[in-house]
Amino acid sequence: MKQETGETWCQSHLADQQLHRLLEKVDADLAQEVCQKGCGYCGGRLHRADYERKPRGGPEWDRRYSFCCAQQDCRRRRTPESVRFLGRRVYAGLVVVLITTMIHGLKPARVRRIREALQIDSRTLKRWRRWWLDRFVRSSFWKAARARFIPPVCEQTVPLSLWLRFDLEGHQRLLAVLEFLSPITTPAAWKELTM
Ligand SMILES: [Zn+2]
Repeated sequence: MKQETGETWCQSHLADQQLHRLLEKVDADLAQEVCQKGCGYCGGRLHRADYERKPRGGPEWDRRYSFCCAQQDCRRRRTPESVRFLGRRVYAGLVVVLITTMIHGLKPARVRRIREALQIDSRTLKRWRRWWLDRFVRSSFWKAARARFIPPVCEQTVPLSLWLRFDLEGHQRLLAVLEFLSPITTPAAWKELTM
C-alpha cells in the first residue's frame, strides 16, 4: 500500500472540490435525517436555525446546520452531526484530521513548512496533537468506539493509527474518518472534548 501522507497529497485533498461537495452532501443528509425525526423532547416540528461559522482552511462553509423546536414552550435546539465542522474548532474538520495525520514522524523543519503554508500557528498544532492523545482517547466516544478495532488502535499514535485502519482509496478514506468522528461534533458531545 502506498503511504498516502505526503504534502502534495494533503494539499490536493484540501483543494479538492469534489471532496468538498461530497462532505456538503453528507452534512445535508445528516441534517435531513435529524429534521425528519422532529424534536427529541416533545416531538414537535423542527425549524432551521443554522449557526454562522467561518471555518479556516476549508472551503467557504459559512453555515452549520442546526434546528430549533417550533413548539413555543419547548424551543430546544438540535444540531446534527457533521463531517465538515469538528465541534467548535476554528478550522474545518478535514484540515485538523489531515494535518495531524500527516505530520506524524516528520522532521520539525518539514512540519514548520507545512504549518506555515497553511498558516496554522505552532501552538494551535501542538494543541491539536495533545487533543488527540489526551481528550480524544479519554472520551466516552472513543472508549465505546475503540472496541470495533481488532487489534486495538495504538492510542499513542492517533490519529495516524486510526487513519490507517480505514483502508479506502483517495478521498473515501478521509470521508470515512470524518464520518467515524461525526458523533463527537455535536455541541452536546463536544463539551467533553474541549480543553
Ligand atoms: Zn420540542
